[in-house]
Amino acid sequence: MAEGDSIRRLAARLSSSVAGREVAAAQFRRGGEVPPRFEGDKLLEVAAVGKHLLMRFGSARTVHSHLRMQGSWRIHRPGWRPGPAADRVGAWFDFGPPGVLAAHAMPVLQVVPTAREDLAVGHLGPDILTDDWPTAAPAVAAIPGRRIREALLDQRNVAGIGNLWTVEGLFVAGVWPHTPAARVDVPQVLDVIARMMRLGLRNGTQATTGDLRKGRTHWVYGRYRRPCRRCSTPIAFSPAGPTPYDRETWWCPHCQPAPGEAS
Ligand SMILES: [Zn+2]
Repeated sequence: MAEGDSIRRLAARLSSSVAGREVAAAQFRRGGEVPPRFEGDKLLEVAAVGKHLLMRFGSARTVHSHLRMQGSWRIHRPGWRPGPAADRVGAWFDFGPPGVLAAHAMPVLQVVPTAREDLAVGHLGPDILTDDWPTAAPAVAAIPGRRIREALLDQRNVAGIGNLWTVEGLFVAGVWPHTPAARVDVPQVLDVIARMMRLGLRNGTQATTGDLRKGRTHWVYGRYRRPCRRCSTPIAFSPAGPTPYDRETWWCPHCQPAPGEAS
């Protein structure tokens, strides 16, 4: 899933394969406007900020993208061009021998001046995967009074946490996902999630249980009505709601009791 850790892995992969290379041919599709040209430009580096990907070019332009659920960057063989059967391709960059980097079904794809990357990512809270996270963490202690799961997903509070890490992190922290954020020890929950994500990033996996076998990788995510791995209570589920951060949620009613209930 395209959460902060997987975007970091993608940035590292693209950096090692195409950063430092010059664009031989490119196409950037933009409805109605003159498409920006990239021929002869050099891709300097690829960076991740939260769940956003920034590709910085020598021309002081940055290609900003966000994968959401469906987007992907893929590297195709040299000389590849999108055919009619290809997924919707918003942009492609032909780097010669390493291949052609293409944005497939990318929901957010734009060019901003590198000096104005704030236009793309300036609204984000501190990135949970940055090196100075422990010092940045207190800044987010005052998360507004919403349900904790929604506060964690709001990228303006903390950048990089997606639904998978929210659901699994709240299980490990023993917090009922519908608890008002004001009643939760938010720094402690963020610490749990930050540790889990870092471990996942290091190990190259989003398995949270430490068990990589199929069907055993997660504590509660996607496990509605299946027995909790700790206490065998059937896992509960609530569907996504109408607001942007009200995502589908799973929890164990015993390990994550509602406040005021005995555990
Ligand atoms: Zn349980």
